Amino acid sequence: RAKELGGGRVEVFATQMHAAVVRRLELGSDLQRALAEREFTVEFQPVVELEGGRVTGLEALLRWRREDVAVPPEEFIGAAEESGLIVPLGAWMLGEACREVARWRAEGWQIGLSVNLTARQIAAPKFAETVAGALSESGLPPQALTLEVKEEVLVEHFQGDEQHLARLSALRDLGVRLAIDDFGTGYASLAYLGQLPVDVLKIDPSFVSGVGRDDTLTLLTRTIVRLGSDLGLIVVAEGIECPDQLERLREMGCVRGQGFLVARPMPADRIDEEIRPKIRPENEPVRAQAG
Ligand code: C2E
Ligand code: MG
Ligand code: MG
Ligand code: MG
Repeated sequence: RAKELGGGRVEVFATQMHAAVVRRLELGSDLQRALAEREFTVEFQPVVELEGGRVTGLEALLRWRREDVAVPPEEFIGAAEESGLIVPLGAWMLGEACREVARWRAEGWQIGLSVNLTARQIAAPKFAETVAGALSESGLPPQALTLEVKEEVLVEHFQGDEQHLARLSALRDLGVRLAIDDFGTGYASLAYLGQLPVDVLKIDPSFVSGVGRDDTLTLLTRTIVRLGSDLGLIVVAEGIECPDQLERLREMGCVRGQGFLVARPMPADRIDEEIRPKIRPENEPVRAQAG
């Protein structure tokens, strides 16, 4: 009986895995066409100072509507990473995002840009040149760009690997900042965190969502905020959804945040319509509002 049950579970698992693999292959083979036919778009999510609400930057996020259905970024980015198409797709995205943000800056809006990277993009032989090219073509100053890498990727591909670390340093030598994304989920050793050439630490929403609701998660978040600050990093809380979380994070000394409470990711034209008008030339606060 137990054996039967166990066997059944394995079968269900195998079927689900198979479906996931088939879907990835299907998406993977469609990515090239989608890139050629310009089906990808870029959205921007504001990052704000928790004290006062000033918008400090925008995180660029890729979007793909395939046959009128939005494909979750984690799915198509995973498929693009496997096929290698992430390299041209990521380069296109970087160029687009730099151009938009350079345009806003030219209009007098002092704003930064964050772009997410995968392992394969960083490992690509000419990646530093791609970044330098996107900066010079758009006119975006390197200090305005932050490149985000997930903690998990840093641990799996870069921990203890001198050549990989040299690649990250080469990027930083361009004058751009590096951020460790989804911090708290990738099991980086604390000693390792101090050695990484990063400037920004982004706390994963799985911690932020527990702030004020779960004692352990609140304590862990407080510890991460303090650790990041003590290491001289800019600490950003991700996934802030309610005013109580924002208030507690601010009290903990977390300087920046992003989340649906402040603003959802939106296309550039909606940033122009909804975010820009709230900002005076001196970059006055956008008030956090529910919803
Ligand atoms: P991420 O870099 O951690 O981006 C933040 C994700 O959290 C985004 O999901 C954003 O929409 C979502 N988010 C923001 N505020 C809230 C909130 O208050 N509540 C909740 N529940 N979610 C919130 P999205 O756009 O679905 O992207 C998911 C992930 O896909 C990103 O996580 C990033 O790892 C990856 N991704 C997206 N665009 C790109 C890209 O251009 N290149 C690469 N390499 N990865 C990307
Ligand atoms: Mg990110
Ligand atoms: Mg994140
Ligand atoms: Mg994430």
